Amino acid sequence: MLGRYVRVVVVGIEGEINLGFIARLVKNFEADDLYLVSPIAKITEEARRFAAKGVGVLEKTVIVNTLEEALKGIDLSACTSAKIGEEKDVLRHPITPWEFAELALKRNRIAVVFGRESVGLTREELSQCDLMVTIPGNPEYPVMNLSHAVAVILYELYKVFSSHRGFKYEAPNRNILDKIMEYFNNIVNEVELDERRKHKITTSFRRLIFKSNIDKAEAYNVLYIMRKIYVKLAGRDHGNTSND
Ligand code: SAH
Repeated sequence: MLGRYVRVVVVGIEGEINLGFIARLVKNFEADDLYLVSPIAKITEEARRFAAKGVGVLEKTVIVNTLEEALKGIDLSACTSAKIGEEKDVLRHPITPWEFAELALKRNRIAVVFGRESVGLTREELSQCDLMVTIPGNPEYPVMNLSHAVAVILYELYKVFSSHRGFKYEAPNRNILDKIMEYFNNIVNEVELDERRKHKITTSFRRLIFKSNIDKAEAYNVLYIMRKIYVKLAGRDHGNTSND
């Protein structure tokens, strides 16, 4: 999409009409690929009819078994949900579609993940994404039709990307960010025993990284000190156990 790679991922899609509509939207907003994770809906004549001139997207849909596979090679992923969590539920702390679009502007390969019509995305699936995006709506009934939600998110990305044509940003490599998170998680493992709290802390840190516009030099500095902290901590711990 306009100089960036945008992948639409739908987990467990149930309806052929929605599938057709989503294929059409992928074409409308120049997204690059449609990935379906364990779909229930099939690419039927009905799906083709609703895809209209987006029918070509249906033909090259990529079907995978796990969300992990669908997120391979992605720099920034956002799961979508209408359900906002309580204050302490960091996994369900959302950002808006336009905030997401601004962050996506600074990455090359973006994935947006949508859930099943019946039950949305599981918490386990939500925790595989870097961010969570919610389209604000009536608090009494914010849940939209799946394909309508896809339309809003793709439009927001398109709007920001098209008004920043040619914009270039030296984002840190995904591997560096993954390494920072890996060292952070190792540090948390060394100092925190409570599994639920560990999960909350590592989720918070991941969100912090991906909500920020951390640049290359900053990322290297953070990685440098994380590694030192971890090595020191792990070394001292091992020292202690050998003295026991
Ligand atoms: N009953 C389900 C609703 C799922 S709606 C539930 O309670 O979760 C199907 C999908 O559409 C969601 O998984 C999400 O990807 C998207 N969606 C619907 N409304 C949305 C909203 N307000 N903000 C972001 N995504 C939304």
